[in-house]
Formats: sequence, structure tokens, C-alpha cells
Amino acid sequence: MKTSLLIVVLFAACAAQAQTHTIRVVPIHLDGNDNPPKGIQFFCTRDYDHQHCPQDAAALQHALAPYSLDPLGAWSFVLVPSYSWKYLVRSLGGSPVSPAFSILDQHITVLESSLFFPSDTNSRNEELLLTYGLIGPALLDLAVTHELGHCICLDTDESRADDYGRGLRDKKPVYCIGSARLVTAEATTHEPSANSYTVLGATPEQEALVRRQILVMQPSTYPLRVLFVPHWKYIDAARAFRPHVPAGYASAMFTHLPSRSVFIDSDRYVSDDSLGYCLAHELGHLAANANSASEGDADKAAHEYRKRLKDPHKPDAH
Ligand SMILES: [Zn+2]
Repeated sequence: MKTSLLIVVLFAACAAQAQTHTIRVVPIHLDGNDNPPKGIQFFCTRDYDHQHCPQDAAALQHALAPYSLDPLGAWSFVLVPSYSWKYLVRSLGGSPVSPAFSILDQHITVLESSLFFPSDTNSRNEELLLTYGLIGPALLDLAVTHELGHCICLDTDESRADDYGRGLRDKKPVYCIGSARLVTAEATTHEPSANSYTVLGATPEQEALVRRQILVMQPSTYPLRVLFVPHWKYIDAARAFRPHVPAGYASAMFTHLPSRSVFIDSDRYVSDDSLGYCLAHELGHLAANANSASEGDADKAAHEYRKRLKDPHKPDAH
């Protein structure tokens, strides 16, 4: 039986009405010739057709293959069945007509099954054909390049995403016009926030523990994502993101600084205390001199976080 993961999507557009949405997902393991970079992960929602899921994920991987995904860093692609699409998108405040959307600050792109399986009785063929004049692989390519435009440039603007997407299809380098401004805007809107990060792949207990520990540590920089991943995936990700780790050695946790993603080896973390101890070190990396890769800098910041973990009730003396 496959383990089910949770993606908790937090919308803090209006702090007073922050909404939490939970999408239950299953991770997809793909082999094949279109291997994406290591940080890229594919999921199907748990209610997705079990036979079509690996097929459709492979079709998505194939559709992504012509484009460089390196600028994305760590990114998750989630497939959602047509029949629950409109409900999901509406609940997230998006336009249900579009067959794909991205949640940029959480590094997630969500795609509808109609893009992969147009003959599905639940698919929105006619509606999509009327709106986009395309269906099948051509529409998938359009959707994928448009979303990559959003994601590579971290730009929410629709017409610029169209331009970036067209550039990608024409094999031109992507020049992000609005990204610098938007990245800054994102940084100021979402920081500091004890809740605006995503926890992926954790059991409810693990997620509650991580959130509690981070809350107590009050780090000066929060992660964007905390991912619990199985050992084999962790080793892959660690090799891809930490090329300087000596062969054969891997800790139970590391941080991909550009995407502020903390990876936790879910097969190796041993106790709540060790989790907190290591987490302090990773948050130290994020805090130290604006994202320092130096272990010493990280430990210096971690020292303070560990004190708070030990004695959560003692107010900060400084
Ligand atoms: Zn868009």
C-alpha cells in the first residue's frame, strides 16, 4: 500500500482570514528517459484514478522534458482529477476554467487530469477547446509552458506568464521582467510568519511536532517548505543539492537554501529531541548572514534556537 501524504496549502493573502486547505496526495516514482532534476517531485491526489496516475505523471514528465527545470530548485507537481478540479480551484480562489495553476511561494504547480486523458467522461474537453482552441498534448504544452513562466520568474502576472511561456516554446532564454520586484514583495509579505510554510510528506504527528518546534524557536528566517522524504529520495536530493557531502555520508536533514526547503530523511530521524536539534541547525543556515552555507555560522544561530527549545517559557533576555 502506498503511503498517503498531505499537502497543506496556506493562503495568507489576508492575514485575518488565512485559510488552510489540505490536499491528500500520493508520491509518484517514475523511471524513464525524461528524468527531471532531483528536486522535482510528482504527486497524484489520493482520489486520482490509480491506473492513470503513473501514466499521466509520465506524460507530464515527458511534456516538461524539453524545458530546463533547474531554475525551479525544489518544486512539486500535483495531479488532480477533473471531477474535483473546480471545487478545489474555487476553494483556493482561482479560476476553475484554467486547467493548471501554481502556488509560487510554496513551489507547487497543480494540473487537472483533462490535460492527460481527454476521453475521460469527466473531462472538460468542450469547455477547454472553446477557451483555448486546443486539446490533448498541444494544450498540455501550452499549460506547462505558461506555468513554467510563472514559476521560473516567480511572477503572478498572467500576460507576462503567457509571454514567458511563448518564449520557452520558441526555445528562447526566459528574461524575467517582473520577478525582482515580486520576489522582494513575496519576501516582505510572507516574513516573518510562523505559519506560511508548507510541511510535506509528514504524518499529522510529525507535522504538529515540526510546527510546534519552529514556533518555539522563533527563527529569524522561516523555511518555505519542510519535506519529510523517504530515504532513497533523500539521498537523491542530498546528492543533487549538496555536492560537497562526502560519498557515503548523509545526515538526517539538510536545507536547499535557494528554495528555503528543509529536507528531512523520514527513515532516519530518530526522536523528537534529535529532530529539534537538527532542525535548529537547518534554520541556522537560513538565518546566518542571509542564507549562509557555512556550518559554523549555522551552528552559531542554532545555539540560540536550541536554548529556546530547551526552555520554551523563558523569555528572550536580549
Ligand atoms: Zn497563469
